[in-house]
Amino acid sequence: MSPGVEKVIPEEAIPEIGSFTQEIDGKNYLVMNDAMFTFFRRSMGEFSPFFLALRDDKKILGCRCTDCGIVRIPPFLVRCPDCNFASTELVEVGDIGRMINTPPITYFATSLFHQQVPSGRGRITLDGADTAMCINFYTTKGILVPGIVKKGTEMKVVFRDERIGDITDIFCVPTSELSPAQISKKGLQESELDWSGAAEPELPEAGPDDTRKFQAGLEELRTLVDELNGCERARADIADWRRVVQVKTVGGECILEIDDGRLRVDEGRSPKPDFTLVCEDINTLLNGLAYRGSLTQAIIVKDLWISLNREFISVFKLERMARSLARTKKG
Ligand SMILES: [Zn+2]
Repeated sequence: MSPGVEKVIPEEAIPEIGSFTQEIDGKNYLVMNDAMFTFFRRSMGEFSPFFLALRDDKKILGCRCTDCGIVRIPPFLVRCPDCNFASTELVEVGDIGRMINTPPITYFATSLFHQQVPSGRGRITLDGADTAMCINFYTTKGILVPGIVKKGTEMKVVFRDERIGDITDIFCVPTSELSPAQISKKGLQESELDWSGAAEPELPEAGPDDTRKFQAGLEELRTLVDELNGCERARADIADWRRVVQVKTVGGECILEIDDGRLRVDEGRSPKPDFTLVCEDINTLLNGLAYRGSLTQAIIVKDLWISLNREFISVFKLERMARSLARTKKG
């Protein structure tokens, strides 16, 4: 596979040739990896102009009824049902609109959408349109948590740099995160946004109690990491995954390293972490890894801050490790 070319089936979803044994009720069973191919092509048919406009012109098209003038997006009606099936015509609509309701955020996705979470999906009414359109949304300020995008939040449509003519070619971000030039620019692209805009929360000054609490937590974390490394199921959850995570708490800092099936924890600061986790109390992290709490929940309620939205997948993997160890112990 040539580098940089994305495939319909992502590389990590393709199992290796081989077999393994699985023990169920004291008996060993042989399990084989096999494949069944089902690729298909589909035509966008009469909806092609909408998708071609997204891909080639960075424009969003709606359809306007030639009789009543209502503009619907996406333009998937060639005749107006309200006007005795009068024909519609394609018109360009604006790229700014408002959320018509407070949208949900997805944190747990199937493997197909793992790379996209957390992502929000809401309905916006774009300027010049009379109906709302479903669209994914993100924030450029770190991780997506409830409260950033609400009913009435003004959003700007952003175009992916690599477009294929699919609805995923576009997403939106709050206009409050953009400069006036970005807001007025037509066909604003993903690469023109500043994704490093997440402001790391400031931690209060540490007292002697905080330092003690951190040291005790770190000790417990070391023991837990040994336990996780000793659990085959947990190790499999971080196979082929490598990340250096800087953890900052009030009482001290540590580095959590995910290294292809092994976890490591060291006190101190990494010169070049892949991403940063900030929590006041190291126990927030510890509880998540020990399956006493949830890291995701901690992120949602803002007890845990993560510097990069896309690194949520690493948090997800750590949570799976915690669950695997808990299940292994139980089983
Ligand atoms: Zn009409």
